[in-house]
Amino acid sequence: MNPSAGDPENILRTVFGFTAFRGQQEAIIRHVVAGGDALVLMPTGGGKSLCYQIPALCRRGMAVVVSPLIALMHNQVAALRQAGVRAAALNSALPPGEAARIERAVGEGQVQLLYVAPERLFLEGYLERMARVPLSLFAIDEAHCVSMWGHDFRPDYRQLKQLHARFPNVPRIALTATADQRTRDDIVEQLDLRGGQIYVASFDRPNIRYGVQAKQPKPSARDRLLHFISTRHKGESGIVYCLSRKKTEATAEWLCSKGVTAFSYHAGMKSEERAANEDRFLREEGVV
Ligand code: ADP
Repeated sequence: MNPSAGDPENILRTVFGFTAFRGQQEAIIRHVVAGGDALVLMPTGGGKSLCYQIPALCRRGMAVVVSPLIALMHNQVAALRQAGVRAAALNSALPPGEAARIERAVGEGQVQLLYVAPERLFLEGYLERMARVPLSLFAIDEAHCVSMWGHDFRPDYRQLKQLHARFPNVPRIALTATADQRTRDDIVEQLDLRGGQIYVASFDRPNIRYGVQAKQPKPSARDRLLHFISTRHKGESGIVYCLSRKKTEATAEWLCSKGVTAFSYHAGMKSEERAANEDRFLREEGVV
């Protein structure tokens, strides 16, 4: 049997390897599988991706996922491919020839989930080409980008309204972790989601807390960081944010000298080195 065939629960188990849905995932997925539009407000890490990935595999045709973040797009596609899903990403960061290869695969109906940067979707003739393949759904990730009230307004997102006009029978699911009422209303308005269902998950994250420590000469901030890592989070993975690139490098080096597996990650690094560090962080345990 095709591993992507079947109902949501079967796909959750066989493709993604999870035993149960979380929170409202199942209700959202069933609503979209049935052809309904939805707006999903869920905190980061809440499990938004499955809310469109599972319907994409339940419904016939190709799902188009609009995402503004190229790095996230590539991570998602890599994870899906590893799970045996035929996923691809179209954006400005592809090596030459790759976009044409993906477009060919799309035309042949070989792609189940296509991640697309919004500016790409509205290039001349793109929607017309897309209209030639059956579409299962549109997922609009980081949907707050459509709103000027959100923290990351992207003018290209305003054009997403066209999708519904052009493909009225293809369900849409918009997802965001930005939940204030003004942004939410604006997303509904801008994407014309008035007939859709709105799902709001709890934004309480009992596993996350802030602690603030006053600056003092002794012990130094570094020493306190090391103490925090080695007593409270020994052997666990984590991220230390610093104010400058140089500081990330110095801090990682210092932590290494103290026996912690640490490395830096910032936009000034060579892309291979950055990718290698990201890869290690995702694969290995106990990396800072
Ligand atoms: P978001 O997009 O909301 O930030 P993700 O979709 O990336 O969150 O999911 C966060 C993490 O939770 C991922 O590692 C994902 O695999 C995991 N996850 C999502 N749904 C489930 C589930 N039903 N059971 C177990 N893990 C899940």
